[in-house]
Amino acid sequence: MNFAGKTAVVTGGSRGIGRAVCLELARGGANVALCYAGNEAAALDTVSACESSGGHAAAVRCDISDSGQVRDLMDTVLREFGRIDILVNNAGITRDGLLMTMKEQDFDAVINTNLKGTFLCMKAVARVMMKQRYGRIVNISSVVGLRGNAGQVNYAASKAGVIGMTKSLAKELASRGVTVNAVAPGFIGTDMTAAMPEAARSAVLSAIPMGRLGGPEDVAKAVAFLSSGEAAYITGQVLAVDGGMSM
Ligand code: NDP
Repeated sequence: MNFAGKTAVVTGGSRGIGRAVCLELARGGANVALCYAGNEAAALDTVSACESSGGHAAAVRCDISDSGQVRDLMDTVLREFGRIDILVNNAGITRDGLLMTMKEQDFDAVINTNLKGTFLCMKAVARVMMKQRYGRIVNISSVVGLRGNAGQVNYAASKAGVIGMTKSLAKELASRGVTVNAVAPGFIGTDMTAAMPEAARSAVLSAIPMGRLGGPEDVAKAVAFLSSGEAAYITGQVLAVDGGMSM
């Protein structure tokens, strides 16, 4: 896919799915600005991997749940690259537990990062994209936002909320050449899923018709398509990348 001359912001680009998205966009020739929460070494590693594949890349530390930091991030990208064509809202966290024992701060932390962070980033780029009359926003939701999951009421609420925001903003921006879509990954092999106990992992695997975990690249390919010029007539959609799990 050709992203020459385009600038992309990828939140949570230091690791996992976000890193694979950065590499996919950079391979297509995009300038990639990634943000990360604290893992500078991983972020710099993604930057050099993007540059090895021919693109320009930069990493900015930014807590996406903080409106001031998000504004600074987008200002820095605009100063550095002049425009923002693609926003991939990928950064996310889990704080799992059954409702009866879930702490209020674990609910707030997940909503603030996954849902409010996505809102803040979309708000910070919407005007820029409207002025350009061009933009692609891709929000990373989850199969859990579609189906729910025991032990993840906070995460499921945040990811279902991301779908609601995606469809609403898609309607607001459709006439301005800006598309807004979501990708709902299933069970993807990253740090987020690595800590899962073996019994839970086998239970999830048995619910995947394809019988295997997805890789970050599987999600990145779908994100790249929705971020491309070729996806111009697709907006407000949720694309599941889950080996058939949500069928
Ligand atoms: P990882 O845990 O591997 O990586 C999370 C990324 O988000 C890191 O780059 C991290 O930065 C960044 N991040 C976390 N909090 C913040 C914050 N407050 N501000 C900025 N950046 C932050 O996650 P995955 O790659 O597994 O997941 C990526 C997305 O995909 C998430 O939204 C997740 O919910 C979603 N998803 C994942 C699935 C899976 O099976 N893995 C399934 C469905 C959805 P740092 O490196 O600095 O910590």
